[in-house]
Amino acid sequence: MKKILKNIWKIKRFIIWFFLDKTDKLIDISKISEKILVGKSIKWKDLNCFKIWNWNKKVLYVSWIHWNEVWTVKLAHKLINFFNTNISKYIDYTFFIISCLNIDWYDKAIKNPDYFNWWKVWRFNSNEVDLNRNFPTKTFTQKSIRSFWKNYSQNVEVFCWKEWNSETETKALTEFIKSSDIKILFVFHNAWKDVLWNSTELSQKISKLYSEKTWFKLLTQDYWKTLKQTWTAKEWCDENDITYLEIEWTTRYWSDWNIQKNAIIESLKLI
Ligand SMILES: [Zn+2]
Repeated sequence: MKKILKNIWKIKRFIIWFFLDKTDKLIDISKISEKILVGKSIKWKDLNCFKIWNWNKKVLYVSWIHWNEVWTVKLAHKLINFFNTNISKYIDYTFFIISCLNIDWYDKAIKNPDYFNWWKVWRFNSNEVDLNRNFPTKTFTQKSIRSFWKNYSQNVEVFCWKEWNSETETKALTEFIKSSDIKILFVFHNAWKDVLWNSTELSQKISKLYSEKTWFKLLTQDYWKTLKQTWTAKEWCDENDITYLEIEWTTRYWSDWNIQKNAIIESLKLI
């Protein structure tokens, strides 16, 4: 039975791949943006943040925190390209974009973005820690859970490590946010089609708009609590009075740019 299901899954993925928009490529941004080194990964690779313009409204976008969410990097590059080209419309802002936080898996994942490990998709960093369960929050312990499947009805335990902020990736991210005095953070995941917000008023406003523009489901705080996911970026932002938006988009197979572009642009008007 398991074998049959696995084959159905493979065929389904082949069909999706076959009908992919082949023009949805990873844009080369190496020449168009200022790069800041925010830290090193566990395997000592550079964690870069791209910076566009320099004014008082600071917004940070973070992609690829879980390594199976490979093409969130495509959206990040499109975003960098877009802001760079249209910066005259956004002169009040500074845009920071970390296109890949889980950098240790970059080469492997780019080579094989269509992971073929059945549904047990890999998501950790090279210490086997779930980076979105490793933020320095008050309630930190060694283990948490992650939820998946329809309406997050299934969950499994994930490892968060022995102490909070143990992973260089999360440490670099949180220290960068603090030292740069960034108060608005967007994190891109896929592919559950929803928008999660945190306790700030601005987050609630943006998430509502984002959900309207994309048709992604707007999660409620009560619903979030039932998932019992802890030590996350969301919780850390709550504790540090940072506006947080978590966007779970439609697919693992393309950039989602056409669906999210308008929501991203419109949300800037609320900031
Ligand atoms: Zn994720």
